[in-house]
Amino acid sequence: MSETRIAVITGAARGIGAATARRLASDGHKVAVLDLDTEACRGTVDSIVSAGGTALAVGADVSDEASVLEAFEAIVNGLGAPTILVNNAGIIRDNLLFKMTVDDWDAVTGVHLRGAFLMSRAAQRHMTEAKFGRIVNVSSTSALGNRGQANYSAAKAGLQGFTKTLAIELGKFGVTVNAVAPGFIQTDMTAATAERMGMSFDDFIAASAAQIPVARAGQPDDVAHAVRFLVSEEAGFVSGQVLYVAGGPTD
Ligand code: NAP
Repeated sequence: MSETRIAVITGAARGIGAATARRLASDGHKVAVLDLDTEACRGTVDSIVSAGGTALAVGADVSDEASVLEAFEAIVNGLGAPTILVNNAGIIRDNLLFKMTVDDWDAVTGVHLRGAFLMSRAAQRHMTEAKFGRIVNVSSTSALGNRGQANYSAAKAGLQGFTKTLAIELGKFGVTVNAVAPGFIQTDMTAATAERMGMSFDDFIAASAAQIPVARAGQPDDVAHAVRFLVSEEAGFVSGQVLYVAGGPTD
């Protein structure tokens, strides 16, 4: 088991973020469960606390500089200096290019890219001081291109370049920076995609699973487990990598 650390998971009210927060808490880390609305974080926090762990609900918008700085103040005061950060918060605003609005573009790149930048910049101070840090950015197989997701795929591909650059800059301080790139994971986000496509979620899951070599849809815990490895003490020689968690090869 890893030494106890303070971990910040963004977008942790539900889906992949909630599973990751629970997983890291079960490994003994104290977890800041960050999402847009503090109340929305309660479910994840309660499940961690009832399992004997420590968690703090933090309401913040990762794309807003002042909100991020306030969140870090609350985390440092409530739990201590964070040395694990999982940039997981995300939104989709899918549309074909000719119908994509500037708002769709700005909202998606704002949460994924600007959000990861603001959170990582605020976190690195604590990590470099501690001479230990783990940053995991949640990218996507959509980084390789996906119809209707010009904004999202650009943001997720951008996150991969961001990951490699931070790995180069922060490595000498004991900080590793990696990305996980999930394929199809069964969450509210993919349920929303099914609805937009006019399909039932069950049919969408079955159609997706038929394309996946391991012949099933991914679950939030599949991603949480990969994150758990990358933030472990023992993964200190793995940095600047993109780990596809997609049930098969991706390119
Ligand atoms: P989800 O269930 O929609 O959860 C995302 C969470 O992020 C929500 O709780 C959301 O809050 C929060 N969030 C959105 N904007 C935020 C902001 N500005 N500040 C703080 N929190 C914010 O999504 P998920 O499927 O678990 O996805 C998690 C991550 O994995 C995302 O980065 C996504 O792009 C990535 N991913 C997902 C899949 C998949 O198949 N599900 C595949 C590849 C990558 P609200 O509910 O209030 O909006």
